[in-house]
Amino acid sequence: MRLILLGPPGAGKGTQALRLVAKYGIVQLSTGEMLRAAVKAATPVGREVQEIMARGGLVPDSVVVSIVGQRIEQPDARKGFILDGFPRTVPQAVALDRMLATRGLGLDAVIELRVDEDALVRRIESRIAEMKERGEELRPDDNPEVLHNRLRAYRQQTAPLIAYYRHQEVLRTVNGMAPIADVTAAIDKVLPSDPPAGAREADGKKKSEELNS
Ligand code: ADP
Repeated sequence: MRLILLGPPGAGKGTQALRLVAKYGIVQLSTGEMLRAAVKAATPVGREVQEIMARGGLVPDSVVVSIVGQRIEQPDARKGFILDGFPRTVPQAVALDRMLATRGLGLDAVIELRVDEDALVRRIESRIAEMKERGEELRPDDNPEVLHNRLRAYRQQTAPLIAYYRHQEVLRTVNGMAPIADVTAAIDKVLPSDPPAGAREADGKKKSEELNS
């Protein structure tokens, strides 16, 4: 199973990704987490992107495309993966299509978590307040001003992917404003199930025909 979770910051992509990882035994590939790890380790990539991330801008396509390209080559991604935070621009989506095509792979679904922007800002602000209360470490980009930039980047550069994937007929939209368990149930409903029995039979028939010929 190869999936993309699409939605603005705070839409619940990470939460739903964890549920899908457990359900399908596939890995979650979060470009945000990979980049934060690079920043923390002060690698050359980390040093290049640190400031952009702190401002809430998007890091260059070439950087994330190369990170994802290497990551999906790892053995643990063979069974499938959930991309969380990638692609975020149309050129990234085109690069992903190419990467998958050269490996003879495709996407099973792109799940769009649709949320209301005002509610989103309130959701993130309360998440920040709760984390502060618990004394947890905040991300440098978790503040109201930077959040505004992250939302703008989403509207301008990522939202066009909705039409891109609708055109490819892989887009599945669910209401991200519902309670967590309801969003999970809605995602389960839109994901492709096993191939229908008819398809399996046809496949078996084809194989026996090949054997007989
Ligand atoms: P969120 O979805 O909550 O904004 P992420 O953890 O997905 O956070 O990403 C954090 C930051 O990492 C982004 O604001 C951006 O600077 C950078 N980033 C992550 N993924 C990408 C990507 N695919 N393309 C460009 N920048 C990215």
